[in-house]
Amino acid sequence: MQHKGILMVMSGFSGAGKGTIVKRMLEKYPDQYKLSISATTRKPREGETHGKEYFFLTKEEFIARMKEDGFVEWAEYVGNYYGTPKAYIEEELAKGSNIILEIEMQGALEVRKKFKDALLLFVTPPDYTTLKERLVNRGTEDMETIRKRLNRAVKETGYIEQYNNVIVNNDVEEAADEIHNIVMNEMKLRHKHAEFIANFIEQYNDDNE
Ligand code: 5GP
Repeated sequence: MQHKGILMVMSGFSGAGKGTIVKRMLEKYPDQYKLSISATTRKPREGETHGKEYFFLTKEEFIARMKEDGFVEWAEYVGNYYGTPKAYIEEELAKGSNIILEIEMQGALEVRKKFKDALLLFVTPPDYTTLKERLVNRGTEDMETIRKRLNRAVKETGYIEQYNNVIVNNDVEEAADEIHNIVMNEMKLRHKHAEFIANFIEQYNDDNE
């Protein structure tokens, strides 16, 4: 039986380490997951390249893409736009791939509305203090931006219950494996349900021939 792929949506507080976890998952299980690359109007950070971490667009380009209905979802995050390109998701889902979206919460909940069976995973550090430390130590944002991101994190706690699972990131390796196990179990479960339904209907049809 052909397994349908899983659309995984990973969100988490900024600084939770989800980018590192996703990178590790793609290294460890290269045949199992495809990463969707988002578009953003944010400026590239040092070492980031167009088409790898993001498609870096101007605000005008982003808005044009939005008007063409080119995004599955888009959101404004701390003064910049971020969006998930539609074509890639549709192509890969049709092929049955497992796709990872690494997007913030507003976008994740938007994806859930369009794809009811999306698997929403929330990544978090163990506590607030660790989150703040990680953001400060990362050194990629000024204090004002960090303050905004922490403020947003507190607001986001109200939506965590809408996720299928919460992953506490104490260790990248463990978190990557935990997520992989969640996905594999989910696939098994879906396969089992599909098999049960097919079997049930087949028996009904035989009984009513
Ligand atoms: P950063 O600027 O740190 O790369 O990303 C900021 C936030 O935007 C992160 O939480 C990231 O997951 C989220 N993000 C990245 N791409 C997308 C996207 O396509 N859509 C949405 N809604 N959020 C995104």
